[in-house]
Amino acid sequence: MVGGYDLHTHTVLSDGTTTPEDNVRDAVELGLEGLGVTDHDTTAPFERALAAAEGTGLEIVTGTEFSAELEGRSVHVLGYWVDPSDGPLQTEMDRLRNEREHRARAIVGKFRELGVEISMDRVHELAGAAPVGRPHIAQAVVESGAAGTTREVFDTWLADDGPAYVPKHAVDPVAAVRLLIGAGGVAVLAHPGLYGSRDDGEPGLEAVTVEEMAAAGLAGIEADHPDHTDAQRERYRDLAVGLGLEVTAGSDYHGERKANRLGSATTDRSVVERLRERRPGAS
Ligand code: AMP
Ligand code: ZN
Ligand code: FE
Ligand code: FE
Repeated sequence: MVGGYDLHTHTVLSDGTTTPEDNVRDAVELGLEGLGVTDHDTTAPFERALAAAEGTGLEIVTGTEFSAELEGRSVHVLGYWVDPSDGPLQTEMDRLRNEREHRARAIVGKFRELGVEISMDRVHELAGAAPVGRPHIAQAVVESGAAGTTREVFDTWLADDGPAYVPKHAVDPVAAVRLLIGAGGVAVLAHPGLYGSRDDGEPGLEAVTVEEMAAAGLAGIEADHPDHTDAQRERYRDLAVGLGLEVTAGSDYHGERKANRLGSATTDRSVVERLRERRPGAS
């Protein structure tokens, strides 16, 4: 029994390889108390996850991992309990999903210029009905034989500072927080340790940006993420505590597309309760 809430997971409705039903079943088997359903730029898995969890005792925390950008780099903001019928949020997510299509074509073009022969058709096949994400493209590159693992594809070409990277033209992180809160949600900064260094050499997203997000109503920081080093966990935990924010954990499970295992990082129920109290309009 693991207990706790895994507050960051993906499904085939974005760039994971497992269905919402698979994740619910596995979460129940692991003994998790709750599961955050956080596909990229969509609320599509909500209904399926809620239906699958009915009668199991597993609490579904509906959410989305919303794409923002800062100075050409991806910044992800988790939005829990957003209203899937919120107009402004859905308008921006529609735009983002459309943007993903154009961007995927641009990335495939860059790979071909770099001598890696992948096709948009294959990328579409791998993505299925889901909006195309970099992990789908990375898988196509592995299939082409140009790399052994998707990890290698990111390290060589596809990370934010890589030669095949194309940004998504997303809103800035502060606007993302406002949009998620406007949709009745609670905003948590995802994996701040993965945003790379900027010119001043400071690792990760600078405190000043996080402070601005906090001023806009950010509720928490995902300090405990499998891809963070111990030093990063401590750094972002301190940052959260200093700003009066909650500290959350999530596995960022992507099925077979990432090594991160479901339930490998969990948030205590007490933290989830405090997040719930930070919902706009909650007393
Ligand atoms: P996208 O939303 O298309 O920008 O893709 C984001 C996804 O790509 C993330 O959820 C990760 O799974 C993966 N990803 C991004 N950067 C890296 C990286 N440097 N190494 C491995 N995976 C990454
Ligand atoms: Zn992903
Ligand atoms: Fe992410
Ligand atoms: Fe994620």
